[in-house]
Amino acid sequence: MKALLLTAPSQLTFTDFPNPVPAADEALVRVRACGICGSDIHGWDGSTGRRRPPLIMGHEASGEIVAVGPSVERWRVGDRVTFDSTISCGQCAYCRAGQINLCENRRVVGVAPAEFRQHGAFAEFVAVPGRILYALPDPLSYPHAAMIEPVSIAIHAVQRVKFAPADTAVVVGSGMIGLFVIQALRWAGVQRVIAVDLEDRRLALARELGATDTVNSGAGDTIAEIQKLTGGLGAAVAFEVVGISPTFNLALMAVRRGGSVVLVGNLAPKVEFPLQAAVNRELTIHGTCASAGEYPLCLDLIARGVIRVEPMISAVAPLAEGRGWFERLSAKDGGKFMKVILTP
Ligand SMILES: [Zn+2]
Ligand SMILES: [Zn+2]
Repeated sequence: MKALLLTAPSQLTFTDFPNPVPAADEALVRVRACGICGSDIHGWDGSTGRRRPPLIMGHEASGEIVAVGPSVERWRVGDRVTFDSTISCGQCAYCRAGQINLCENRRVVGVAPAEFRQHGAFAEFVAVPGRILYALPDPLSYPHAAMIEPVSIAIHAVQRVKFAPADTAVVVGSGMIGLFVIQALRWAGVQRVIAVDLEDRRLALARELGATDTVNSGAGDTIAEIQKLTGGLGAAVAFEVVGISPTFNLALMAVRRGGSVVLVGNLAPKVEFPLQAAVNRELTIHGTCASAGEYPLCLDLIARGVIRVEPMISAVAPLAEGRGWFERLSAKDGGKFMKVILTP
């Protein structure tokens, strides 16, 4: 098969590669679309240690089944599918409790840290366990289905907290995941969503996708602005979708006393933590990671257009052009693109 192979840090080659052979519990999927994830861009140069060459990256994919191993019962050749980026073991205490995102033996498709090497979907074929596959609703296109992972992250994040419809939520960071969090909040019934970002272009898109108010954090006092919009109290919940000290602190100070902060972004491994502001104001802080069984719900929401994915797709390009797209996305101005989807 043809594959986009990472041969050395920052070195991608479009090359021939042996077809994967599905194990007994695996299905072989003919990949029709695979999105380039931010984690691929941050990791392909070797900086995260999670994409050790040689590796076929790619975990945001959709396609059709072309073969199944002997112990796969639910799936047939020809089924249109997507799959979870996390391969959960199905056996550990977390998996048995339904917390598959917290699996003790989790592997991620298209990732190779020190403990494992799992080839991904920047290739014509990929083999994945039958238990992580999900059927595509009929009207859903392969490129739209490939947006499932970021959508599921947003839906899972929003479900980490309970809202009253009258609650105001703040979303700090209006990149792709932030824009999905905004849409997920509106789906969850939150009527007032304040989007925060440094770029007016993204804030305009945030408004188009359901934010009721926007604040450019590069202009003036953001906290004062949020206070003004919330009757001096602060928001009930803030979602931090960047993951660096200034935005983390902004999220913490944007909520009212007794409020909640949901941490989605994790760009920096450590942040400055204002302990007294959190303790004395009785804040609740939630981490959120990947998703835990929300894929069918998300596929339905995308297929019905409740969550819109097409404004986030910057380009759909042949897999053979993948290297050029990795270079463009890694460049200084790479942030002007949101999702680039490659089609083998
Ligand atoms: Zn991803
Ligand atoms: Zn497990």
